[in-house]
Amino acid sequence: AVEDALFRLEGVVAGYGDVTVLRGVDLAVRPGEVVALLGANGAGKSTTCAVAAGDLRVTAGRVVLDGTDVTSWPAHRRAREGVLLAPEGRGVFPGLTVDENLRTWLADPGPVYERLPQLARRRGLAAGALSGGEQQLLTLAPALVRPPRVLIADEPSLGLAPLVVEQLFEVFAELRERGVALLLVEEKATSVLELADTVAFMRLGRVTWTGPRAEVDDARLTAAYLGVS
Ligand code: ATP
Repeated sequence: AVEDALFRLEGVVAGYGDVTVLRGVDLAVRPGEVVALLGANGAGKSTTCAVAAGDLRVTAGRVVLDGTDVTSWPAHRRAREGVLLAPEGRGVFPGLTVDENLRTWLADPGPVYERLPQLARRRGLAAGALSGGEQQLLTLAPALVRPPRVLIADEPSLGLAPLVVEQLFEVFAELRERGVALLLVEEKATSVLELADTVAFMRLGRVTWTGPRAEVDDARLTAAYLGVS
């Protein structure tokens, strides 16, 4: 049921200049739910993230957070109210070490290191020298310490080493346990499908199918990507 959703996009139309990319997107994420938004290149997934985070204005439709219409809210106001777009939620200082980065906002980074051993091993290294995945883990550390209400991640596992992806998805799983509503966007239905509770397929600027992960089989995946669903 859409009514118990914490975060919703309703009939969102948006684009760039004269180009309409989103043609009526409906999406709903509940507390403690992982929604995987899947679709081919150019389907409009990144544009959906931009609208959700408040980085792009809609030309029609609404964005609703916990029953409040936040469509006109700028990104910083949505962020303050707990809508976090990863990994841009909080910047990393490339010249500071991992430990110094964490200590800019956290008195004792111990709990972060416990959950993210990959970062613990790199604590003395300049953040700018980390791999992309490690930097992503570092930007997600605040979410672990103080969970957002809604976390949106665009292609979180893209180009990351398997070990880092594993840790990243452990972070997402923990956030789900703690009641965060997660919208995870991926092009390919790989690791994210294992974590997802709900799957939404996107094609040509619309969500063409939404349903429980259990109903997603190979036939459904093929149909979704080929556009026959
Ligand atoms: P990808 O995985 O390739 O990022 P996507 O599903 O995330 O695909 P979007 O990035 O949302 O899709 O792009 C959807 C369409 O919008 C594409 O046709 C793309 O060319 C266009 N588009 C994206 N960003 C811009 C922009 N800043 N200006 C103009 N057109 C854009």
